[in-house]
Amino acid sequence: MAELEYAYGSEPYAVRLVGSSPTVRTMKKQPNLRIILLGGLGEVGRNMMLLEWQGKILICDMGFRMPEEDMPGIDYIVPNISYLKDKKKNILGVVFTHGHYDHIGAVPYLMEKIWHPGLEIYASPLTRGIILKRQGDFPNQPKLDIAEVRDGSKVKLGPFRVEFFRQNHNIPDNLGLFIETPIGNILHTSDFKFDPAPVNDLPTNFQKLKSFGRRKILLLMSDSTGAEENNHSLSEKTIEKNLEEIFKYSSGRIIAATFASLINRIQQIITLSEKYGRKVCVEGYSMKTNVEISKILGYLKIKKGTLVKAKELANYPDGKVTVLCTGAQGEGSAILMKIASREHPFIRLRKGDSVILSSSVIPGNERTVQMLKDDILRHGVKVFHYKMMDIHAGGHAQQDELREMIKIMRPKFFLPIHGQYSMLAAHTELAREMGLSERNALIAENGQIINLNPKKISIEKQKVPSNYVMVDGLGIGDVGDVVLRDRQMLAKDGMFVIVTVIDKTTGKVKGSPDIISRGFVYLRESKELLRETRKKVIEIVNRTTGSGGAVNWSYVKDEIRNKIGQFFYTKTQRRPMILPVVIEV
Ligand SMILES: [Zn+2]
Ligand SMILES: [Zn+2]
Repeated sequence: MAELEYAYGSEPYAVRLVGSSPTVRTMKKQPNLRIILLGGLGEVGRNMMLLEWQGKILICDMGFRMPEEDMPGIDYIVPNISYLKDKKKNILGVVFTHGHYDHIGAVPYLMEKIWHPGLEIYASPLTRGIILKRQGDFPNQPKLDIAEVRDGSKVKLGPFRVEFFRQNHNIPDNLGLFIETPIGNILHTSDFKFDPAPVNDLPTNFQKLKSFGRRKILLLMSDSTGAEENNHSLSEKTIEKNLEEIFKYSSGRIIAATFASLINRIQQIITLSEKYGRKVCVEGYSMKTNVEISKILGYLKIKKGTLVKAKELANYPDGKVTVLCTGAQGEGSAILMKIASREHPFIRLRKGDSVILSSSVIPGNERTVQMLKDDILRHGVKVFHYKMMDIHAGGHAQQDELREMIKIMRPKFFLPIHGQYSMLAAHTELAREMGLSERNALIAENGQIINLNPKKISIEKQKVPSNYVMVDGLGIGDVGDVVLRDRQMLAKDGMFVIVTVIDKTTGKVKGSPDIISRGFVYLRESKELLRETRKKVIEIVNRTTGSGGAVNWSYVKDEIRNKIGQFFYTKTQRRPMILPVVIEV
């Protein structure tokens, strides 16, 4: 009788038959489930994940992120889906966890590229409502058939069986995913926190979570956004108490800025306004639509007569008014910025007002938020920021809860998702402290191919494209690195256009070159510099064209660009973008 024995200690795949036959046989290599995150790793936002089994693909979430501060003119950044090109037919479906834009924001930019009639899409009622409403705001979008799922719903998509379960967060209708795959079970937490006292929602269902834990979790993918905070996230009830302090002591108007998708915060501000006899004016397109959808679907409870329009505000005393608006991140186009910079048609800040900035600052936005705060304070207005009081819970589990989640799920493998690299690292550290080996708790990056089988998790050397795809107005991806670099250069040192007219017959400069410049130097006060520049341009052109014969115009332009560039740098230590224009007459 043959016995099986591992050939080399821990190496699980090569097996030797011992006894009758001395031959060494290698068992067929176990197929892998491929997991690819196109965004959301090493950044906050742009969450999109692919699960691929033998060519069949399931997508989870399609989010966007805000641009960084050095990306002039860019509206959003969306995931790069070039890996999915030519694989359309193999995409079984898309499941959405919740209605935050870092999970659904890229739908109007990407869905039409992967959509086919057989594509199945699943979302909770509120998430569905938000996606469909936005979809309607964009031209030429495919009509999406999104099936509703809720706590306990189960759907089968090819080799994947997905069970949705309720997770507390700061938006209602947030769903975690328990995914049965041919190699084992995966648990995806979605964004979450454990909340014993949520708003308009049930407390965390630990029994349910434990039941998943008992079903053997091969891989836990858990939200890392709060992994660097070493306590427990605040309950929504506690936040409401803190907010109430502001309502209690404010005699002027209250202007509360938050994310349009923080439905729970919006609810709390409306409830408190009603309690303190204030009318509420909702300002900002996305805020208005989200309030409307949530109200219709029953996720927001608003008394009749509470909501008023901005132009009616003048009819009420300051102490009876709350303005609920977007712009807590200092976004240039948002309502709070318009109010602070006196561009809003009806609302001006004045002494006695209280401004609440209720949202944690997204990494990269710190400076803009600081400037916004300063601007508001200049109006003699009180500012309440989340750092001063816990008026924003973040909505994300902190270390205590993350540990608890790992303890409940007891996964074999662990992969931190959603967050900056430092957050992923802190989360992995927690998992390792709790006994997962270094090999079993990995940190992956966007675009890496993660191979998973019951024995092993590993990362392939090869990556799929995951670089930024930038959205500017109606253009998706047409603003690439080159355009962006130009914009950065223009923003930094301005531009300088030199128009030179050359006489065809002599090859010499006719007259004096024209100069147009923006953002480089103030022309009227730089006469000497301009005089020298003109002189240099004439010299360069006459030297390079004067020898007769055919003239290489691109060489002439390069010479102008290089020589004048050097000249400007020695004179001003600035590097404007130089655009030489040469006209032959
Ligand atoms: Zn979220
Ligand atoms: Zn998120």
